This record gives sequence, C-alpha cells and structure tokens, in this order.
Amino acid sequence: MTIRRLILLLMTVAQFASLPLLAQHTPFKILAFYSDKAEPDHVDFAKDALKFLASRAVPEGFIFEATTHWEDLNDERLKTCQLVIWLNESPTNPKQRHAFERYMEHGGAWLGFHAAGYNDKDTRWPWLVDFLGGAVFDINSWPPLPARLLIDERAHPVMSKIPADFESPANEWYVWKPSPHLNPNVRVLASLDLSNYPIGFKDVLTSGDLPAVWTNTKYKMVYMNMGHGDKIFTSPTQNQLIDNAVNWLGTGAMTTSPVPKSNQVRSTPKGMRISRDGIAINSRTGKFYAVNTGRNTVTVLDGDGHFLNRIDVGLEPESIAINPDTNRVYVANSGSGTVTVIDSATDKPVTNVPVGALPYTIAVDPAANKVYVSRTFSDVTVIIDGATNIARSVKAGAGDAVAAESLENQTYLINYEGPQVTVFDGTDDQFSKIEAPNHLWAIAVNPTTKKIYAVSAGSASAIVIDSKSRATKIVKTGEIPCALAVDASSGKVFVANYGGNTVTVIDGVTDSVLATVDVSANPQAITVDSSNHRFYVASTRAGVVTVLDGTNYSEIRRVKTGNAPYAIAVNSGTHTAVALGLKGDPIAIVGTTMSILPTLHQKNNR
Ligand code: ZN
Repeated sequence: MTIRRLILLLMTVAQFASLPLLAQHTPFKILAFYSDKAEPDHVDFAKDALKFLASRAVPEGFIFEATTHWEDLNDERLKTCQLVIWLNESPTNPKQRHAFERYMEHGGAWLGFHAAGYNDKDTRWPWLVDFLGGAVFDINSWPPLPARLLIDERAHPVMSKIPADFESPANEWYVWKPSPHLNPNVRVLASLDLSNYPIGFKDVLTSGDLPAVWTNTKYKMVYMNMGHGDKIFTSPTQNQLIDNAVNWLGTGAMTTSPVPKSNQVRSTPKGMRISRDGIAINSRTGKFYAVNTGRNTVTVLDGDGHFLNRIDVGLEPESIAINPDTNRVYVANSGSGTVTVIDSATDKPVTNVPVGALPYTIAVDPAANKVYVSRTFSDVTVIIDGATNIARSVKAGAGDAVAAESLENQTYLINYEGPQVTVFDGTDDQFSKIEAPNHLWAIAVNPTTKKIYAVSAGSASAIVIDSKSRATKIVKTGEIPCALAVDASSGKVFVANYGGNTVTVIDGVTDSVLATVDVSANPQAITVDSSNHRFYVASTRAGVVTVLDGTNYSEIRRVKTGNAPYAIAVNSGTHTAVALGLKGDPIAIVGTTMSILPTLHQKNNR
C-alpha cells in the first residue's frame, strides 16, 4: 500500500485567537486512519469524512491528519494524538493492534464509524470485541436506507443540541449480537426507532434492538453505526452529532452528569432476505406462484386468487422466474443453494438443480430456454439449460446482482455496487456491459418498444436502454427509486420512489416524465394492469396497497393488506392482484372490486 499521508490542515494559535467565534480550547490533534481499497461505498464515506473533518478543524479548533498507512498506529505516533479515528477499517496486524490497546488503556480517545467496528469469527481480536462492549456483527439491512434514530441519552454531551429523534441519511444498518445494550459498561446514546421496521429491500430487518451510537464507559470512545455510502454527511443534525463526538473525545471533557441508564428492554433483532421476484405469474395459465420463505414452500393461486397448491421446495425460497413456453417454474432456494424446477401443469417439482450458495436473482430467457441465477457475495452467474437442467457458472463481473430481466434472447443483470448493466447473450452465453448510474436496484423491460429500464436508488434516476442500438438516456425520478413496472399497452413506466413517497410516470415514447403521483409512505413494490391501466403500489411498512388510475393518476383505493407487502403481481385478464407479505401466504386483491380474498389468508396462513 502506498503511503498517502494527508496533512489537511495545521492551524496556529494566532489564527485561532483572531477568530473570536472559534472554539476556546487548546487545539487537539486527530489522526484518522482509513483504507482507499475497501468496499467502494466505505471508501466514498471515508472521502466525505476527510472533507467534513478538514472543514471542521478551524471552527472546532483541532489539527487534523489522515493516513491510509496503518503502520502509523504505533506508540510514537499515537502519543502525539488526542483522538484516533477509524473511518472504514480496523487493523489486522498484531503490532498495530497492541499499540492501539496500549493507547486506549492509557487514556487515548477513539471514534469509530461503521465498518471500523465490524468484527466476526475471522477477526480474532477479543480485545476489540470487549472494547466495543461485547458487540459482534450479526446481520445487516440492505441496501442502504435512511432510518429514524431515537436519542436514548439526550443529556449526554454527544447529544448536545440534537432533537429527540431525527432522520439519519441512507446507511447500511448493522445488528450486533449480543446487543451492546446488555453490557452494564455501555451507554447507548442513539438507536433505531422501532417505527423503521421493516427496513430493507433485500436484507430486511423486521424488529428489534439496534443501537446506532454508543460509548463503552471503560474507555474514551464512541462508536457510530453510520458510515456507508455518499449520503452520510447530508444531515445537518447528524453532522452536529459527529462534531459533538469529536469535541467530547478530543477535548477530554469526559465527565458527564450521571444519567439513569435506560431500562428499555427490546426484543432481539430479526431479519430475513426478500426479493420483489418472490411472486410471479405464469403468463400462459395466469396462475400466481409465491414463495413462502419461512415454510420452504411455494403457494400456487389461480388467476382469480384462489388457493390451488402448496409445493415443497428447497430451504428459504426467495425468488421465482417462469418460462411460459415450457411451462416450467424456477425457484431460487437461498438456504439450500438449489433451484427447484416445477412442472406448472401438475404443480409438482421435477428436480432440484444445485447452483452453489445463496442463489438470489433469477430470470428466464424463453427464446434460449435458459435460466440465469446470480448468487449473493459471489460475482457468479449460474446458467441452467432448461432442456437438460444442467448448470454451469460464469464469472461475468456482474457482482452481487439484485435483479435481472430477459428480452429477446438477451438477459440483463444489475447490481447495486457496480455502475453497469451486464448483458448475457442467450445464443452463446457471451456477456457485455452497458454503462449506467451507480446503485441500480430494479429493472423492467417493454417487450413492445424493446426498451429496458433500470432505476438507480443512489442517484434518483432511471436509465432507459434501447436494446437494439444500446443508446441510453437518464431520466430523473423521486428519491430512492426501488421498483418499476411497464404498462406494455400504453408504454408508460411507473417508478416507485421509496424516499419520495411518490410514483414517477415516464412516457414510453419520449422518455420524459409525465407525472409525479403521491402514494402511501415508502412504496417498495409496484405492478401495472396493462388492460385497464391501473397500477398497484405496495407500501411495506404501512401494510397498504394503493391502487391508482394510470390514465389520470387519481387514487382509486387504499387496500389495507397488513403483513408488510413487499412484492406484487397482477393478472390483467382477471384484474386480480396478489401481494406477498413477510409472513405466510400471499394476499389476493380481487378484480375491480379490489376486495381481499379472506379464505386463503385465514385458513392457510399456518
Ligand atoms: Zn457498509
């Protein structure tokens, strides 16, 4: 690693004295450590943090230095610093670890963000675990989303001038086990408000105690869960909180008035993995297929939403794709690393195809009779031959794909972390790339116009790709677009904006925005009925599906489904929509009356 020491600002006492509004204490020295080779979103955070901290040095009265050179974590260097900050990493070298332990045991101060506190069974540094209050990384939310933070200890200096709660910008939220709350030496200063649950489009946290900022009172330290992506410094309130932590730690003003520790007992956090492809329609028969992840089954409904079958599949089924030409249903089982192939004529499993750990995204190319499966954390695309059920793996650099669609013998995969669309040719399995905005989350195709649409949750935009010429165009959407649906008959594209509480309607010919429509809070899934042009928007947290007219954009009805609907599909022949919630069987919203079919939900929701 090249040594890149940035001395961003050195200030003199003279400068200090000339500015009366500045902090009235002796300048303290901060040394921040970071990596520029870490996960891209962690590097983005570190770069933003360097800018922020450098900009705060004069007004707050500190000297700020930063380095990627962890060798600087030694006794000699540390004795010159009043505060050590780890932005996106922790040391792996035993000498550096021991130097840091000595520094902290002898009155040093530390501020750690997000990945700096990450530790698991491979970290092998028990001292760090104890230092963090016993906290070991357990699970996380995905993708990064904003969350409301509740201040647990408002009297604490780190929470000075911070309101009782505020919205923390998009971040990957870590869950810790055991909770730092359980450690008598730990003071949790802020946690995720319970109103945030469920949170996540893929890794969803459904409940529980999630401390976000805390201090282990045995040390001068503060850990903050925030630190993923380029949005962290967009909240003035959160910036104030970071300022407070830097000042409290850097000036050594450690005495705090005793505050009764909150006795609030909260449940152990729970999480699960979900996909908007958890439900699919067989366009040949109109039947709905929906995963039941907790029960390792797939529920089959007829086109009117009536219960037909329950099929045993592999462990933790998450997503479904259907080939109407061969009448085969493909179910990706995350827990067992298989794809279950179901004959849709009999609704019986034909075979289970091993595909490797954590299959997630699945798409069928009917023209080539191939199934494309991506695996979480693998950068591997598995291609199953639909005729032989033989699978082979391709390393296409498609990353951790989160969605895929096929159109005319081409399959398009997107991932959150790489700014490109990976395209597989069904004829020869060769792949190519199309440049796109970063942080893509959802994709849809228009089979009539041969256009492909993908939304970028990170940049509040959609990319339109002409599948023939590969020309692209960017269209602005609302904040955090996360799902979209194409009305194949009108050509309109409906984009659900989770952060904007809106739907952006895009014209299928001109690619211009026709309307921005208010819907219920945090829309997370969307589908459109191309025969009557109604669109259905699922708000997972609110437990509501809003039905709107896709011609004049008026709201027709808000259907209370409960059960956190996160995936939805509509049969344009019967006008029946089926929403899949976090638990149990799906919920049918029947025909133009939009009544909820009670039988399935009540009788079969075992
Ligand atoms: Zn992260």
